[in-house]
Amino acid sequence: KRKPIVIANWKLNGGLELICTSVASFIGKHFEADIAICPPYIYMRDMLTFLQHSEISIGSQNVSKFKSGAYTGETSAQMLKEAGCKLCLIGHSERRSMFKENNLSCQIKIGNALNHGLMPILCVGENKEEHDAKITKDVIFRQVTECLEGVELDGRKICIAYEPIWAIGTGASATPEIAQDVHSFIRQELIKLYGEETANSIRLLYGGSVTKDNAKDLLAKEDVDGLLVGGASLDPGHFLAICQHA
Ligand code: 13P
Repeated sequence: KRKPIVIANWKLNGGLELICTSVASFIGKHFEADIAICPPYIYMRDMLTFLQHSEISIGSQNVSKFKSGAYTGETSAQMLKEAGCKLCLIGHSERRSMFKENNLSCQIKIGNALNHGLMPILCVGENKEEHDAKITKDVIFRQVTECLEGVELDGRKICIAYEPIWAIGTGASATPEIAQDVHSFIRQELIKLYGEETANSIRLLYGGSVTKDNAKDLLAKEDVDGLLVGGASLDPGHFLAICQHA
């Protein structure tokens, strides 16, 4: 069985107070799952310092597709790695819809992350119209195959997070059955791309209105190997409860 993984995506939220309360909640605790927090870039170093003796890893919410140069406001995979980051989210729907992220930029970012020893968490998911039109699997197929085109894993780790856009921040989580259905579809596509052994080692996360009340049922599904948590991760007690379900 794959080791579960729970990731907090703080988005553009949080500050010193949230850092202090999160650190106080997580320090000295043991988890059965891998746990990571993705705060805004500016807080990553502080959190790393505070959490250095804890089991919590730090991730980034994005990574540049460029390596270095005149790209104002960007942060490279190498910089993130040097800063102590373990993983990075790539292609979150908010970045796709508001910051011109597309499958090709995701593909480049995945390569950069892997080449610098960061674990990419590729985010995919359909919007409400696509969901209603029942073309979820076509959308996911395109995102997964285009983002992973030419990406060699060679034992290097990647995760895929299925985040239906209609479930993000709405309180309307996908049911465990929907999540399992899409995850098993992703798993089948990964088998075609990488073979059984590699595909079966890739952890698939669900994200979209995850709470302590639905976390357990989602994680009980065979192909739901982890959770990507937005809003509920801004309450350290709530996030801790989710992590303890995993
Ligand atoms: P919510 O948990 O707030 O729905 O956000 C999910 C998400 O976008 C995590 O990346």
